Order: sequence, then structure tokens, then C-alpha cells
Amino acid sequence: MKRRGGKTVIITSQGKKLSIKDPRVKLHMPGFSNFHTDLFEKSFTLFGFNVGKSTEIKLEYPVKGLRYSSGKECIPLPIVIGNLMTLVENRKPGEIIGYFMIRGGSPCAVYSYFHYLEQFIEHNKLENVFIYRFDFLTKFLGIPLLQILKYAPKIIIMGDLITEVYNALQVVGEEGSIDLFHKYWYEFIKNTNDLKQLDKNIDKLIEKIALIPRKNSPEKLPSVLISGDFFVRFSPFFINELKSYYNKHGILVKSTDLYELVLYSIHYQSYLVAQRWKKSPDDFSTFIKSLATPWNENSRLILFSKIALKILHRIERKQRKRFAKTGLLFAGPNNLREIFKQSGPYISPLIFGEAIPTIGKGIETLEDSRFDSLVLTGPINCLPYKISQAILKPIYLEHQKPFLVFDVDISAMTPNMKRLVNANIEQIKRRRIKDTSVVKDRISFSKLLRVLNKGMK
Ligand code: SF4
Repeated sequence: MKRRGGKTVIITSQGKKLSIKDPRVKLHMPGFSNFHTDLFEKSFTLFGFNVGKSTEIKLEYPVKGLRYSSGKECIPLPIVIGNLMTLVENRKPGEIIGYFMIRGGSPCAVYSYFHYLEQFIEHNKLENVFIYRFDFLTKFLGIPLLQILKYAPKIIIMGDLITEVYNALQVVGEEGSIDLFHKYWYEFIKNTNDLKQLDKNIDKLIEKIALIPRKNSPEKLPSVLISGDFFVRFSPFFINELKSYYNKHGILVKSTDLYELVLYSIHYQSYLVAQRWKKSPDDFSTFIKSLATPWNENSRLILFSKIALKILHRIERKQRKRFAKTGLLFAGPNNLREIFKQSGPYISPLIFGEAIPTIGKGIETLEDSRFDSLVLTGPINCLPYKISQAILKPIYLEHQKPFLVFDVDISAMTPNMKRLVNANIEQIKRRRIKDTSVVKDRISFSKLLRVLNKGMK
């Protein structure tokens, strides 16, 4: 993939130059979350790209991918390799495959995925296959920045909110409610054929979901937060079995929002710059210095990050308010400042990757009464997961709040893991009973005071 004359083009293995929007070029994405992936595919189609249908992760992907890796890498790598190989095996004649990959940072191995995949394609002589990114550096594959700013945050947060709504419905829905939900969701995806229709169709979808029958409201039900690697925490392949255990006991499950990772990535840039200035990006003096030197690239980056975060937080609050009409939201908005503040005493803000949001969110959840437990998840050989685990586990133990470490693997849950999940569920239930009896005690004590007061009068 190259930029030529201000346009994004693909140079085929035969040396032919094609537009990225040429019908022969099919863009694919790893299927890590059903709703986010549906939305990304839809929006890419509406931006004029040709999109190949992604599928949920299947066991054949890691099995195939492990043949091309050492088995010591974190598990998303063999999965994306297996997925890519399956696409190559099944492609139509003449099709050019583009496969999406992000770039992260240390201590996360995803930093190397992009180059690893490029080398993999070269070493295995896979013709007409390329890896693409969709970010500022690739000029968003030619999509105007204003379009990106207008739609991308809305689409990402919608993926998070619709996942939350769906998770709630799995617990509070009546028989047939989930089928209705799927029906409305696919109608929404099918009938949105223009970005201009997006808002109108979102409102229609919300109205329909609000009418889906349910037994009760999710508001007061116990809930757990699943935090950790984003590829894992949304994926039905990894967490469906775990979710069903909690759901059977009337416990809601929320995966930490993808939006949080987006906010984090933007704010991180200002940390890098502020470090060069030997200041904190949140200091007032940093802001004043950036304002006073707008010609300086670093100043512009800090100002951009501050303005962007304000706008992005506002967009999230607006979308949350909108989706609250479904009556199925049960978590609050993301608070990036809180995440950095909470993780600050434990890990340097300059280490980029999922460890910081995971630790920050973990400590925030400890103090947040909405969630009854944190479930920290990730593949065994994931360094950010291990770091977060080492920091959060003793803190949760000290505060006696339920905490579960859920190692994911491509096999089904082990009997030992099932025992740990059941123990976590039991702890949540006992905590709820204890909290209810404390409230009851408080009520009876105030009743007693009222009676005594009356008697005195
Ligand atoms: S967060 Fe962990 S599992 Fe995910 S890509 Fe990074 S190292 Fe791998």
C-alpha cells in the first residue's frame, strides 16, 4: 500500500497500480467483537471501500496459526495468522486481500504484529496480500479528517454501548428477547446505506430495543467488569463460557470499553511531549506554555490532545444519554483523568500499552460501588496482563473485594478455572447479602431513633 499523488494505492504483486477502492481490493478486519466488527465493516463500506466479511474467531484459526509461530507469542498472533491464511485459501480469483492491524507499544507485543505479518507474507510468498493501518499516519486511507472526526468516535462508542445493552439483555430478557435484539440489529446494519442516515437509524434502533420485553431492570443487579486485552475481553470465542456462568446467576458482565483505549492513546501523546518539557501534561503551566508557543509542534500536539479529549468525552456522554433510553445501560462513562490518576502511583505513565488503562480501571473499580468484582483477563504470555495482575491482585486482596484472574486459552475452561469462577460468584453474592443487611441495619437503627424521639416528645 502506498500514497501516490495524494491518493492511497495498492501495488499488486504483478506491479499493477490500483486504487484502494478498486472492486478487486477487499479489506478485512480481525473479528474480535461482533458488534464493533459489524459497525467497522459497515462504516468502511459507507466510506466507499470494498469490505470482506469477517467471521467470529474459530478454533481453526489458532490451530492453523500455531503452525506458523513458535507458540510462545501471545495468542492473538496465531489467531490473526490463521485468519489471514483462511482468507487466502478461500479468496476468489483476482481478489487482493488487505488485512487490518493496529500498532501498539511496549510492553505489548502488538507493537511487532504489523511488521511480523508483513514479513510473514513475504516469507510465505503470499501474492496480492497486504497489511493496512487506518490512522493519522496513513491519512485514514484517503478519508477526509473531518469525516473521521464526525463519525469515528460515534461508531466506536456505539459498539461499546450496544455490547453493554446486549449483555444486560442476556440477563434481564424474557424468552425470545435476544432473538428480537438480533433481528433489530441486523435490520439496522442492512438498512443503513448512507452515513447521513446513521443518526436517524440509531434512534429507530434505540426505540425498538426499548420495547423488547424484559423481566426487570439491570440497574440494581450485581455486575462484574471484564478488563484486560481488548482482543480477548470482547471476543465470544474467549469469554462466552465465562459470561454464561455469571449470567446464570443473574450477574451482569461488562467488558471495558474500546473507547477507553482510544481516549488513552490520544492522551498518551501529550505525556510523551510533556516529558520532553519535564512537566506533567495536566499541569496548568504546561497548558499555558502550549498556548504561548502555538508554532511549536509539541505545543500543538498538547493542545490538540486536550481539545480532542474534551470533545470525545462530550460525545460519549451524549451517546450514553441517548442509549439510556433502551433502559439497558448499567455502567457509567469513561473518565480518562481518573485512570491516569489511579494508575500513577503504580506504573509510569510513559509505558505505552494496555497495562495503564487496565491498572487505572482496576483501581477505579475498587472504589466504584457499581461493580461487585473485577475479572482480569488475558492470554498467559501477555506482559501487560501479567503486570496488571501483579499490581492489582494484592490491592484487591487487601480491600477484600472479589477479584478473578481469568487466563484465556484456545481450549475450554479447565475444571480448576470453573471452581475459581464459582468461588468468585459466591463472594459476590455474600457481599451483596452483607451490604443489604448493613442497609437494613441502618434503616432499623434510624427507625429506632425515630421511635425513641417520639417517645421523648
Ligand atoms: S495486550 Fe497482551 S495479548 Fe494483547 S497484543 Fe499485547 S501482549 Fe498480546
